Amino acid sequence: MEREEYLAAIKPRMPEKRYIHTIGVMETAIALAKVFGENEKNAEIAAILHDIAKYADIAWMEKIVRDEKLDHRLIGWGSELLHGPVGAYIAEHEFGIVEEDILNAIRFHTTGRVGMSRLEKILFVADMIEPNRKFNGVERLRKKAQKNLDKAVSACVRHTLAFLIDTKQPIYPLSIDCYNDLMKREDSEG
Ligand code: GDP
Ligand code: FE
Ligand code: FE
Repeated sequence: MEREEYLAAIKPRMPEKRYIHTIGVMETAIALAKVFGENEKNAEIAAILHDIAKYADIAWMEKIVRDEKLDHRLIGWGSELLHGPVGAYIAEHEFGIVEEDILNAIRFHTTGRVGMSRLEKILFVADMIEPNRKFNGVERLRKKAQKNLDKAVSACVRHTLAFLIDTKQPIYPLSIDCYNDLMKREDSEG
C-alpha cells in the first residue's frame, strides 16, 4: 500500500486532532530515519499506524489481549496502554504488515522496552517531539533527537515517567524496565 492509501484508511478511525498528530509523527519519523540511516518506508508505515487503536473499544481490546495471549498485565490499564499492542495486532491482521520491526515499533511506542531497535526508537521519539506537541522541554528534546537517538529516547522516557509520577499515575512495568535498562547503559558508558 502507498502512503495515501494508509492515510485514507486511518483517517475515519480517529478525530481530526489525532490525524494531524499522526501526520506530524510520520514526517518526524521519516526525517529521523534519514538522519540515522533507517528504512524510511518502514518509519512511514509504523508512524501512520501507530495510534490506529487509540479509539478502539476497550472491551474489544481486552478481548484481543486475552485471545492473542498478549501481556495479561495490560488488562485494566485502559486505552493509553492497550493501543500500542492492539495497534500492532490491527497492523498485522487488518493491514497485512509482516515486518516484525514495524509491528514492534507500534507495539512498544507508548512504553518503550528493553533492547529497542533503531526503528522502535525513532517512532518512540517522533511520537513525543512531532511539531504539534507542545510541552515544557519539547524543544530541548527536538534538539537532542537531531544529535543522539539513544540520548533522545532516554530523555523522552524520563520526561514521561516524571510526568506520570507528578500526576500520581501508575507506571506500567515495561516502562520501568525500559527506564532501568537505559539508566544502566548510561551508567556503564560513564
Ligand atoms: P499518544 O498515543 O500519541 O498520546 O502517546 P503515547 O502512546 O506515547 O502515550 C499515551 C499516553 O500514555 C500518554 O498520556 C502517556 O503519558 C501515557 N503513558 C505512557 N507510559 C505510561 C505508563 O507507564 N503508565 C501510565 N499510566 N500511562 C503511561
Ligand atoms: Fe500512542
Ligand atoms: Fe501518538
